[in-house]
Amino acid sequence: MPMLEVRDLTVRYGALEAIRNVGFSVDAGEIVALIGSNGAGKSTTLRAVMGLVPAATGSISLDGKDITTLNSAVRVRGGIALSPEGRRLFGRMTVLDNLLTGAYAVSSRTVRQQTLEEIYDLFPRVRERRRQLAGSLSGGEQQMVAIGRALMANPRLLMLDEPSLGIAPKVVGEIAHAIERINQEKRMSIILVEQNARLALRLSHNAYALEHGEVVRSGRGDELLADPFVQKAYLGI
Ligand code: ATP
Repeated sequence: MPMLEVRDLTVRYGALEAIRNVGFSVDAGEIVALIGSNGAGKSTTLRAVMGLVPAATGSISLDGKDITTLNSAVRVRGGIALSPEGRRLFGRMTVLDNLLTGAYAVSSRTVRQQTLEEIYDLFPRVRERRRQLAGSLSGGEQQMVAIGRALMANPRLLMLDEPSLGIAPKVVGEIAHAIERINQEKRMSIILVEQNARLALRLSHNAYALEHGEVVRSGRGDELLADPFVQKAYLGI
């Protein structure tokens, strides 16, 4: 049984159908990439899995249990966390306080402290800057904090929305390495939404391409990297 199973999911914003009959699954310990151009529906898919927008049709299940109508707080306790597009940090709060906002559902102080240490180990620069205001950090550092904040919820399924967006190439490499470590060392499942399709396909085990709200291709990351349609549409080959 997959950890997450999304079936025939449709989400509407008023009259606009943002995604239509989207289906995909994520196994335990797997990295799944969602690629596609601007407005293809990638963020909407993550928001629906998190319970931030309602499903008009279809179903979402976690460990075989239907969570389609549960609110997002319950889904966080069930093990899902989202690092949203644009990072959405509290700029006038310290880095540490931003991280702690992610841990509201974790009651054990010991677990919180341990997770914090793991995040600092993953991103030493976040440790160095923990007392600084989040708004004073570079884009790349803010992205590290945003990922850290999602990790503070101790999820089993981590969803990352555009972690490479607007970030210097050298820092993109650091973040990619951290994503691999999170997956390998913590056996955490990850859904990676990226416009940088090459990066996402390299990191992922399985991937889905979305166009105009629908899944148009799916397969192993390395298969899609070699797929002429994907190369032409998303890799500029
Ligand atoms: P991007 O990377 O640009 O965010 P995306 O693939 O994540 O692209 P979505 O953000 O999911 O795409 O958007 C899918 C469609 O839904 C787009 O047409 C977008 O304009 C529309 N949309 C997204 N959010 C809203 C909203 N809150 N209200 C109305 N329409 C929305």
